[in-house]
Amino acid sequence: MSSDTSIKVSAELLRTLHRIQRQRTDLKSQLERGPRQIQASAAMVAELEATVGESQEKLRKAKMAADEKQLQLKSREDRVQQLRIKLNSAASNREYTALKEQIAADEQANEVLSDEILEAYERIDGLEAERTELQEQLKRRQEEHAEFVSTVDETMKQKSESLARVEAELAEAEDQLPPPIRLEYDRIVGTRGEEALAPVEGETCGGCYQMLTSQMMNRLYLGQAVRCPACGAMMYLPEDRTVR
Ligand SMILES: [Zn+2]
Repeated sequence: MSSDTSIKVSAELLRTLHRIQRQRTDLKSQLERGPRQIQASAAMVAELEATVGESQEKLRKAKMAADEKQLQLKSREDRVQQLRIKLNSAASNREYTALKEQIAADEQANEVLSDEILEAYERIDGLEAERTELQEQLKRRQEEHAEFVSTVDETMKQKSESLARVEAELAEAEDQLPPPIRLEYDRIVGTRGEEALAPVEGETCGGCYQMLTSQMMNRLYLGQAVRCPACGAMMYLPEDRTVR
């Protein structure tokens, strides 16, 4: 189809083809969006799972540290116990006094350690509450994700069905193109997709805004096939501008 062809093509058919092409593009982009949305939602779940893991690890380390202090306290208390036994059998006043001082110092150190252990358990309580809260958050997010996935799946299923319907409709409309134009159409659609078609806007191509000559306008009004000299789109008159 060169620009001086006089082959006629229905503006209504071109309008219909363009409308269906646009619907198809729209449905395809919606279908591409679905998996991306699911991926983003799954990433949010994974992120929270990692946070819960970190929280559990912090708790585990705090418990280990507290247990260690407990053991330390136990062995120090045992040592004080030993010193007391020694005290009872002290051979001299000097030994007695030295043992007394040692016991007093150890007991003071043990008190400090006991305080530290109490603090450690308070910290563990706080960490446990934090972890429980995070686990609940995670459970909620997992539920939301599952719900989201099923909604998106359902939407995708519907969109896929719509796409199949639109493609059948498109094939049917394309079959109505006169054969020489069909060849040209297939070639342009292959490279430009829905931009293979463009409505006339004023006296310009609606695809690229190239001014059209009055000769081109006349041919369009005569219902002849006209391609934009700039972008190559097959042009058609909008519904409110009828073919003579
Ligand atoms: Zn154009």
